[in-house]
Amino acid sequence: MRHNIALLIKKEKFSKEEELQVLKKKARVIEIRISSLKKRINELERGHKPLAYMVDVDIERCVGCGACRDVCPTGAISVQETARVDRKTCIGCGRCAEQCPRGALSLYPV
Ligand code: SF4
Ligand code: SF4
Repeated sequence: MRHNIALLIKKEKFSKEEELQVLKKKARVIEIRISSLKKRINELERGHKPLAYMVDVDIERCVGCGACRDVCPTGAISVQETARVDRKTCIGCGRCAEQCPRGALSLYPV
């Protein structure tokens, strides 16, 4: 059964930590949706599908967790304190951006 989260929080059935995790998950879903909407908007504005996408790392948001590196099919990402993308190896598939828990990766057309 689906619960109304706001109602559960109001009734204090969620601890603050649980609420935080739920809200982070919801925010992440919205960020992924926005990212794919932006991708489509770019395609429509250009009148055609771009040949390729590249990834940008927002180092203010990146916490160096390595989730992006673990899913990259070409090994284009290295992580020390923050993630770095090798532009020669990246194929713009977007898997890294979908996995990042911090919304630190965004795709842009090239
Ligand atoms: S998944 Fe996101 S937060 Fe984690 S290392 Fe990659 S860019 Fe940084
Ligand atoms: S877009 Fe794809 S190939 Fe490029 S860094 Fe991300 S996961 Fe790797």
